[in-house]
Parts: sequence; C-alpha cells; structure tokens
Amino acid sequence: MKMELLEDFYIEELKDVLDAEKQLTKALPRMAEAATSPELREAFEMHLRETEGQIQRLQKIFKRLEEPVRGKKCKAMAGLLKEAEEFLSEDAVEAIVDVGLIAAAQKVEHYEIASYGCLATYAKLLGLMEDKELLGQTLQEEKATDGKLTVLAESLNVEAAEGELPGSDEEEGEEEGEEMREEEQSSAR
Ligand code: FE
Ligand code: FE
Ligand code: FE
Repeated sequence: MKMELLEDFYIEELKDVLDAEKQLTKALPRMAEAATSPELREAFEMHLRETEGQIQRLQKIFKRLEEPVRGKKCKAMAGLLKEAEEFLSEDAVEAIVDVGLIAAAQKVEHYEIASYGCLATYAKLLGLMEDKELLGQTLQEEKATDGKLTVLAESLNVEAAEGELPGSDEEEGEEEGEEMREEEQSSAR
C-alpha cells in the first residue's frame, strides 16, 4: 500500500497497535500465573482488564474512520513476548521470576507508550479530537502501569538482591567486591 497521507500512516499504526494489544491479552494471563508476588499478579490481572478496554477504544476508532477492525501483525510485540516466554522457560528462583516478569512487562509498556504517544499526536494533527481523547486515555493507562511496575520493582528487586552477590553489600563498592571475588576464586584454585 502506498502511503501518501498522514491518515494512511495513522491507520497502519492503529492496525499495528490493535494487534499488539491482542497479543498482550493472550500473554498477560500467563504472566499473571507465573508471578509469585500477589501484588504483581494483581497488577497483571488489572492490566489485562484495562487492555481489553483499550481494544474496545481502538474498535471505536476504526468504526469512526469507517475502516475494518483489523490488526496487522506487530512484530515488535511478538519479539518482546517471545523474550518473556524464553525467560519463563529458564530455571529461576521465585524472586528472580518476578524481577524478569517486571522487566519484560515494562519493555512492553514502553513500546505501547511510544505507539500511543505517536498516535495521539497524529490524531491531533488530523483534527480527530475524539480519537485523540481515546488514545490519550489509553496512553495514561500505559504510563500508570509502567509507574506501578517501577514501584513493584523497587520492592521486589530488594529481595532478589539479598544474598547472592558477594560484591553487593554496602561497605564495598560493586567493582571492588567483584575484584575481590575473582581474587578469592583464583586463590582457591
Ligand atoms: Fe495496552
Ligand atoms: Fe508494532
Ligand atoms: Fe499496556
């Protein structure tokens, strides 16, 4: 398809994000199930419900544009979710599972924030103020989710950081600790 107008690109990007959201509705239940922290699980479940609402907003926009409600495969979301799947297939202790899930989810949210930020701008430029309103609502939800995940990361990562790394206690700098560990290892051999 030859794209000549901003509206053409706008519609292509709407198709992309519709597909991205649909992929996410399939992945979020799996991520919620894998989460070991109840707060993280609840955050994923809540965002699944929000994501369903976001799809409805997109459907409204397609109808108003008199376009078929059809997605176009979002390869970026597929890649991000593939990485998440790969991580879940690794052997990790509970706290690390949550850390990895948060990282994967924040990458997804950042992709969505970029997508909806652009789309809301195009809608404004095109004078589609109702679209801009709907896209802006979704953008806020994505940002709020990202913020919530950051807060969760700050509490959960502490648990994951406890113990394992010899260089990570407060008296030593990280690099010093690592050097010491190497020395200890080499003298032990
Ligand atoms: Fe979304
Ligand atoms: Fe995409
Ligand atoms: Fe999202």
